[in-house]
Amino acid sequence: MRGTREAVCGTPRSYGQGRKPSERPAKLCAVCGLPFTWRRKWARDWENVKYCSDRCRARTKSQPV
Ligand SMILES: [Zn+2]
Repeated sequence: MRGTREAVCGTPRSYGQGRKPSERPAKLCAVCGLPFTWRRKWARDWENVKYCSDRCRARTKSQPV
């Protein structure tokens, strides 16, 4: 047995390889609580989007507290 050890095991893995480029942001609908992902039609207004669909948004308006 020889005590010499070759430095083979130290191969560093490059970061960010496991991430998909198509990954999109997601939010939870404030009405139904279901997660929904970014859509193109929300591109301008994504920050203000709180509901997964117009239906859910309409619900908040039509239902008086
Ligand atoms: Zn919803």
